[in-house]
Amino acid sequence: MIDREKLKLAIKMFLEAIGEDPNREGLRETPERVVRMWEEFERMREFDFKLFEEYGNYNEMVVVKDIYFGSFCEHHLLPFVGKVHIAYIPRDRVCGLSKLVRTVRAFSLRPEVQERLTQRIANFIEEELNPKGVGVIIEAEHLCMSLRGVQTPGHLTVTSALRGIFLKDQRTREEFLKIVKGA
Ligand code: ZN
Repeated sequence: MIDREKLKLAIKMFLEAIGEDPNREGLRETPERVVRMWEEFERMREFDFKLFEEYGNYNEMVVVKDIYFGSFCEHHLLPFVGKVHIAYIPRDRVCGLSKLVRTVRAFSLRPEVQERLTQRIANFIEEELNPKGVGVIIEAEHLCMSLRGVQTPGHLTVTSALRGIFLKDQRTREEFLKIVKGA
C-alpha cells in the first residue's frame, strides 16, 4: 500500500530541496498528483496470475512483439521506456496475448533495472506456462542517461533473457531474433 502522507511530504520536501517553491501555483497540487499516480500504478500492477489456460498440443513459437512499457530506473528514479518482445514455445499451456502485456506492466511499474526486469518477466512466464522455452528482449531508452548526455537521445539499451530451447537451440533463437527485427 502507498503511504499517502509520507509520499506527499517526501515530494514536497524534494521540491523544496531542489530550490523550488512547493506552494507556487503549478506545484501546489503536485504532491497529491504524484500520490494518485503511484496509487494508479499500484492498481495496474495487480492482475490475476491464474488466468492462464490449459491447452492441447501446440508446438509453434508464440511471439508478441513491440509491447510498449515504461519503468523507473532504480538508480535515479527517472523513466526508462521502450519495447518488450516475448516469445515462447508451449508445452501444454498457452495464455491470452493480453496476459503477456499485463505481465510486462505488472513487473515494470516500480523502480527496477532493465536487466533484472528482463529476467523477472522470463522467469514468470517460465513458471506459469512451463513452456519448452522462453525468450524476452527489452529495448529501452533510459532518460537518466539521455538527459545527462551520457547517451544520445533515442539510444536504446538492449537486454535479453533466454530459457530452455531458446538457450540451447540456435535456430529457435535466430527465428525469434528475425521476427523481432521484422526481417
Ligand atoms: Zn538511471
